[in-house]
Amino acid sequence: MQTLTGLDTAALTNIVKSIGQPAYRGKQLADSIYTQRVRSIDEITTLPVALRQSLSETYTIGSCTVIGKQEAVDGTIKYLLSFNDGEVVETVFLPYENRTSICISSQVGCPMGCSFCATGTEGLVRNLTTAEIIDQLLIVQALQPEKRISHVVMMGMGEPLLNLPNVIEALTLMANEMGLSWRHLTVSTVGVIPAIEKLAQMDLPLTLAVSLHAPTDDLRDELVPLNRKHNIARLMQACSEYVYQTNRRLTFEYVLLAGVNDRDEDAHALGKLLAKQPLCALNTIPYNSTDVEAAYKRPQSASTRRFRDIVASYGVTVTQRQERGQKIAAACGQLKRSALRSGHSLIPLQMLKADA
Ligand code: SAH
Ligand code: SF4
Repeated sequence: MQTLTGLDTAALTNIVKSIGQPAYRGKQLADSIYTQRVRSIDEITTLPVALRQSLSETYTIGSCTVIGKQEAVDGTIKYLLSFNDGEVVETVFLPYENRTSICISSQVGCPMGCSFCATGTEGLVRNLTTAEIIDQLLIVQALQPEKRISHVVMMGMGEPLLNLPNVIEALTLMANEMGLSWRHLTVSTVGVIPAIEKLAQMDLPLTLAVSLHAPTDDLRDELVPLNRKHNIARLMQACSEYVYQTNRRLTFEYVLLAGVNDRDEDAHALGKLLAKQPLCALNTIPYNSTDVEAAYKRPQSASTRRFRDIVASYGVTVTQRQERGQKIAAACGQLKRSALRSGHSLIPLQMLKADA
């Protein structure tokens, strides 16, 4: 069986034409998948029964199912999704006052091994397909029909730029078939330079976020092993070129780890580094952990404020990520890891209401 999810209107039209149907049936199929978000061919009542039957012989719709969820009091919902081969990723639904966002995954696991990241500890299992990337949005939107998801951030599990063709194909479907604005589609990378260069050439109006986490190579080598290959100077050069090429703002992300990368000297070095970068902003993210044995600590809010003020004194725009769903293992990879660690089968993970 193949899934129709992940195919655009043109490809769906070719399928219906190949079984002797008029071209407009392709558009009806695309509308059912991407606008009405049906989860089975049987539900597409606009199509004749015979066509539904013939499509069902070869095709299905959708590529994942929900196997667990955790809901926080602020409305954040973290879903555990399972694909056909049993692999699992996390997807987070984030309702804000003025918009609704979703954080989606690009890979099962991640090969980058950043020292503070729960996803990094499991290594790479595999890339997600185009269908599996967009289906995270489709299934969550189907479960939350009253809130239109307008923003997508690729900040879930995995390194999107190591799965660039599928990521771009999925984002293109979100823009072209679902009507999301490219500007509201954010790709977060740990700094895969050749892929940043490729992305610059594509010149898409998406939003790029680069996970920096340290202002010096010594420290970044320790936190982000990729830095030993792609150092900060080369990364900054690639980011500048990206900005010149696309004329788009770029955000640097910085997870604050108490006593490790949030010292005054780090803030000064970061301020100096980013002051030289064109059209950039810094987004700080206080470290999140539900693991009591974690090697890192989350800094106090007074020290994160001090860090931000020092960086801002160099003329850099600094924002702090709005913290959501902290009580529900909010950082990527944490729900999956805690579910696996607890030794229970992931199916079914009971719904946990986070304490107030
Ligand atoms: N691989 C990409 C995208 C996924 S990670 C990247 O690294 O950018 C998305 C963001 O979550 C990154 O900025 C990452 O540093 C951050 N993150 C990972 N683990 C975290 C944790 N325990 N607490 C806070 N942020 C974390
Ligand atoms: Fe991978 Fe991003 Fe986690 Fe690093 S922070 S291990 S790149 S998911």
